[in-house]
Amino acid sequence: MARRLSRSTRLVLASHNKGKLVEIAELLRTPDGTPRVELISAGDLGLPEPPETAPDFAGNARIKAQAAAQASGLPALADDSGFSLAALAGEPGVYSARWAGPDKDFAAAMAEVARRLGDAPDRRAWFTCALALAWPDGETATFLGRSEGHAVWPPRGTNGFGYDPIFVPLGASETYGEMTPARKHEASHRARAFAALLAAVFSE
Ligand code: IMP
Repeated sequence: MARRLSRSTRLVLASHNKGKLVEIAELLRTPDGTPRVELISAGDLGLPEPPETAPDFAGNARIKAQAAAQASGLPALADDSGFSLAALAGEPGVYSARWAGPDKDFAAAMAEVARRLGDAPDRRAWFTCALALAWPDGETATFLGRSEGHAVWPPRGTNGFGYDPIFVPLGASETYGEMTPARKHEASHRARAFAALLAAVFSE
């Protein structure tokens, strides 16, 4: 069982991305909007960003969380996520951000997905989110969330980010890019991973 966190815990979020800090702060509130922990960003502490060298999402989340916990002496939370296609043996996977290049051009990344898929009949696709919670003594708990569905072409919708316009989750007809954020996160990979984390480390 994972060690527990409480309202007085100062938790480092091992991300330098301001957008993620805001989104994760939201996910760590109680239903009435109270923060469950005091969140501090790795960027504010001036912590370095370790290279993400693991072959899977959980490994990369662990690298980031453990580096931040060790450098800060506080518990740290990191996430790693990406988009996978069955016909491409799970790619882009941990390379999801890298396929968009230095300009973060996701129109190009989605076009690359379509080019590599060609007319392959298998369109199964999924998003994965791994969360790692590490303590300064090295103890680390990992939580995974997946959202299954299929890829479509051409892209549809302007909501969300990344590969959202080419992904339709199971049971839906709209892409993540066409859905409201609330509808997307009813069963998104990130929402599922946070549900697992909340159930394991908070008592309320
Ligand atoms: P990282 O977790 O910040 O390393 O990057 C994950 C990458 O996966 C993002 O840049 C997106 O390309 C993709 N990704 C992760 N989650 C989502 C999502 O909910 N929608 C669309 N793309 C996502």
